[in-house]
Amino acid sequence: MRIARFSIDGNVAFGAVEEGPDGLVLDIIKGIPYADFELSGVKVPLAKVRLLPPVIGNKIVAFGRNYAEHAKELGNEVPDAPFAFFKPTTSMVGDGDPIEYPGFSNELHHEAELAVVIGRMCREVPRERVKDVIFGYTCANDVTARDVQKREKQWARAKGFDSSCPIGPWVETELDPSDLAIQCTVNGEQRQLGSTSQMIHSIEDLIVNITEAMTLLPGDVILTGTPAGVGPLNVGDEVAVTIQGIGTLTNKVIKRG
Ligand code: MG
Repeated sequence: MRIARFSIDGNVAFGAVEEGPDGLVLDIIKGIPYADFELSGVKVPLAKVRLLPPVIGNKIVAFGRNYAEHAKELGNEVPDAPFAFFKPTTSMVGDGDPIEYPGFSNELHHEAELAVVIGRMCREVPRERVKDVIFGYTCANDVTARDVQKREKQWARAKGFDSSCPIGPWVETELDPSDLAIQCTVNGEQRQLGSTSQMIHSIEDLIVNITEAMTLLPGDVILTGTPAGVGPLNVGDEVAVTIQGIGTLTNKVIKRG
């Protein structure tokens, strides 16, 4: 099932994405998707809504340097163990929302990533139980102020500014994530193309690693790292992240007003 979150006429809801006679529709969900829920049967055309980040969570845990070719392109060593940092939930924007170029950077980069959405509260998850705590998968862009990342020891500003985590368009709950093509284009030109099979540390490794340290809650997001090909974004650019079996997340870069 594909689950989106959206607003229409000032109301916010989750909905299941379905084919309708005239295009995609959202069947409005009663309840929240991380617990028992029902489809209401009330449907609205996808074209009429504004898509929102398709999760309501407590945190975004992002893993860095999880594709060898990407670590090398920035001159970094491939880490022996998974390497995590946080992005705040306030950094999330949905499909079609603008990425606001912050005034304190002159070097914004795209990073196409598979995002894992957690479905249940968990800690110290053993490898064989990892599947049980995953709700689904979506596309994300770990937008990074690369110049700020290089000059500031902590990455809170470089990777945590508002709109630095476009995510969506929806969560796919039935997907084998082990070998999915992941692509990033800017103004239609391909910048990144890789496969989730190239991750150094698997999704199981990442969730075991982070839950050794902390509790994950339903709706929390795990960013799994980016393949090689990261590069600059400029005001006016349209950046699109496409992951096989999920869909495409598209955002335009604007100057922060
Ligand atoms: Mg990243």
